[in-house]
Amino acid sequence: MELKTYIVDGQRMTSREQAHAYLQEVLALPAWYGKNLDALYDCLTSLPACEIRLRNADAVRQMGEYGQKLLNVFRDAAAADRAIRLTEERAPELICTRCGRRVPASTRAAACTCGGLWELSYDLPPFSLEDVDRGQWNMFRYRRFMALDDDTSWRAVTMGEGMTPIIAFDDDVMLKMDYFMPTLSFKDRGAAALIAHCRSIGVDRVVQDSSGNAGNAVAAYCARAGIGCEIFVPEGASPKKIDMIRAHGAVCTVVPGSRDHCADVCRQKAESGVYYANHVYNPYFYEGTKTYIYEVFEQLGRMPDHLLIPVGNGTLFLGAMRALEHLLDSGAIRRMPQVIAAQSERCAPLMLAARRGEAEPAVITPEPTMAEGIAIGRPMRGAQILALAKKWDVRFISVPEDGILAARSDLARRGIYCEHTTAANLAAYRRCCAVYGKVSDCLITMCGAGLKSDH
Ligand SMILES: [Zn+2]
Repeated sequence: MELKTYIVDGQRMTSREQAHAYLQEVLALPAWYGKNLDALYDCLTSLPACEIRLRNADAVRQMGEYGQKLLNVFRDAAAADRAIRLTEERAPELICTRCGRRVPASTRAAACTCGGLWELSYDLPPFSLEDVDRGQWNMFRYRRFMALDDDTSWRAVTMGEGMTPIIAFDDDVMLKMDYFMPTLSFKDRGAAALIAHCRSIGVDRVVQDSSGNAGNAVAAYCARAGIGCEIFVPEGASPKKIDMIRAHGAVCTVVPGSRDHCADVCRQKAESGVYYANHVYNPYFYEGTKTYIYEVFEQLGRMPDHLLIPVGNGTLFLGAMRALEHLLDSGAIRRMPQVIAAQSERCAPLMLAARRGEAEPAVITPEPTMAEGIAIGRPMRGAQILALAKKWDVRFISVPEDGILAARSDLARRGIYCEHTTAANLAAYRRCCAVYGKVSDCLITMCGAGLKSDH
């Protein structure tokens, strides 16, 4: 039976009247619940089996005697009724990766005033399969291990993302079919989590810059959530992707010039007060990509010895590493698998930095590559990626440009029609075997569908 979860945020209860209205709404209490705390006790103890996650109890306490009594009612009800599981926790916060400033997760600022990018901080319980909601056939079955602002927004947003199968490719390689997603790429994991967050905090309009799959994913989830959306794409972006963005009702603005210039134009718009739903800036995106690893663990009942992950901006890498650390800290796995990070040989600022032992991405001039999805010359979270790579001995491998078409063709002849950036993963795997010897028990992500990269 699914355990119903209620997230009760003390910050929403700073006066008696507010508390009354908020509790009635969030716990769906019957109309006869008044401001009377005895009635609240009766309501709580008559709830079906549930988990109540009580956040920011300090904010309630600041109401004085009434606040303290209110908290006691929750505790007394949980003590008397074994069907109620009460946990007290901090609310998610954003921490600046540069200066350490903390702000509530409901902040709408794209980055810290010092320019640093945000990182999420919240109480994360140890990973346990017991806490996976097996009644949900989407990635939110792992929501106990994701930062969520409430337990309702994701229900309005989910389109069944995640839960992608793992299939055998040959004796040594398994493929995780992560393009089996609503918008045909793994970016749906991040977009679903990010747009659920937007809905929770009442965002009604977002902007995003993307030349590829992330723009499609954000546009689709905004459509689902009823949130206005404008996607900025650089000139030369695939007409198919532009059509798809517009089909979701989003405004698609084509910006002349480079990809970097397109991002600058979009950020200017964000600075004027529109929410910046960007897959690199916004840490909620990584809450979604974490589920890639949780799924692998649940599906296989273990972690493969090797995980090959493509790295451009690192949206999958950062989420995956975080989830792996979580599994390790929780004792679910005994050792870290060998992570192999693939970068295009024509655009490898992280691989070069890692080989030189540097903490910041190397300054490079990217050359055109078919693996356009990972061709990021200046990854904004490069230092974070490099620090994790160093900590866990991640092996960087470059994608041979002349191996991409062959890999794509080999996959297609085995029934798998993926985009070039995805085929690059298999090309990287092959180079890895050529350089280091046979790599067995390796999981490779199939992150984008082929139809989207046929120009
Ligand atoms: Zn800062």
